[in-house]
Amino acid sequence: MKNLPTCLGCSIVRGNLPQFTVFENDDVICVLDIDPIHEGHTLILPKHHYAEYTDIPHRIVLSITACITILSNVLQSKFNPEGITLWQNGGVFNDLDSPF
Ligand SMILES: [Zn+2]
Repeated sequence: MKNLPTCLGCSIVRGNLPQFTVFENDDVICVLDIDPIHEGHTLILPKHHYAEYTDIPHRIVLSITACITILSNVLQSKFNPEGITLWQNGGVFNDLDSPF
């Protein structure tokens, strides 16, 4: 096993955990959640560690937004959901920034 960082999100970004990547660009990787709430539940992770959403540079936020649009279109065409939810867990609700 590779040397694991203490952050679950960064471990996913570095490919240290089993994952299925659905989209990737220079700034962001998008992987299917291992315990999905719904079909197509996807994590959008910046490739650099940011503790909070408000720490993310604007250029990376724009890249995340582009991924949201791409993924939403794919999810709509594949699963035809009644709606798509965007979710950001910060502060005490952040479950990817924890040591594991
Ligand atoms: Zn991290």
